[in-house]
Amino acid sequence: MAKAAIIDGKQFAARLRMAIAAQVVQLKAEHGLTPGLAVVLVGEDPASQIYVRNKGLQVREAGMNSFEQRLPVTTTQAELLAHIADLNQDPAVNGILVQLPLPKQIDPEAVIAAIAVSKDVDGFHPLNAGLLAVGAAAMVPCTPLGCLMMLKEFAGPLAGQRAVVLGRSNIVGKPMAALLLREHCTVTLAHSRTRDLAEECRQADILIAAVGKAQMVKGDWIKPGATVIDVGINRIPTPDGKGRLVGDVDFDAAVEVAGAITPVPGGVGPMTIACLLLNTLTATCRQHGIPAPDVRPAAE
Ligand code: NDP
Repeated sequence: MAKAAIIDGKQFAARLRMAIAAQVVQLKAEHGLTPGLAVVLVGEDPASQIYVRNKGLQVREAGMNSFEQRLPVTTTQAELLAHIADLNQDPAVNGILVQLPLPKQIDPEAVIAAIAVSKDVDGFHPLNAGLLAVGAAAMVPCTPLGCLMMLKEFAGPLAGQRAVVLGRSNIVGKPMAALLLREHCTVTLAHSRTRDLAEECRQADILIAAVGKAQMVKGDWIKPGATVIDVGINRIPTPDGKGRLVGDVDFDAAVEVAGAITPVPGGVGPMTIACLLLNTLTATCRQHGIPAPDVRPAAE
């Protein structure tokens, strides 16, 4: 059997960013609006600093305004909430993202709930989760949104396909399942208490792995020809001590069985940031009563 097609998330995300940038130009020309994203970083976690810097760069490259705010690790919850209240009121800020994880004195749920629903570009606010669950216009979390866009392009018509989502977190698994249901897939949401995970996976025309366990999904868990989206990011040790990033799927085995598969790195990751830009554009339009454009990646 032929090897799976590799879904190039890096290239797909670059095409999506081009399409977003074109819409930003149009929004400026027609309505005089420039979308603005505020990213708030509390503390000095090295990985978070890299994420925030990358987000800022890509926001500016798309022609949007980036407001990066760095607060000390000693920031209290009340101080952060006051800060968010200011951003909620600021008309130049259309999207607010508070980089997680937060220092231990701050409750992330209280912070997420304090962000204006219309500016919640991460889609983590409980009201946005509820809107998504009932099929209304929600801000959708970036990672599952990116996965869905890739599936629409690479998995053929989604209606009627059997989808298995591994992992039930609020930021990936649950919204992913809701999105696939909205696309008329038959959805199974599996997790650590699922009885026979391998057998559940073997039923999947579409398999989304979001568990955070290195190479857990084996080649013989995959239905021949299935589309596999690997959300996991795990660092495994290498002899040189530097380590290497792998997904939740045993890629080398899966690529022999699947019809199409995302690599790690270079699959879902780049799409997550591109979808953050998309959500900022969508939020800006909705806040001004302008229909949000249906942005698709630019043609190759
Ligand atoms: P969480 O830890 O919040 O959730 C993991 C889920 O996997 C839980 O529902 C858990 O089940 C389930 N799970 C854990 N172990 C097993 C197991 N052995 N068998 C079956 N299910 C299991 O993780 P996230 O959803 O936040 O992230 C998942 C992965 O995706 C991580 O590797 C993360 O780094 C990556 N990620 C990547 C992003 C990207 O942009 N590419 C963005 C976000 C996350 P239970 O609920 O029963 O405990």
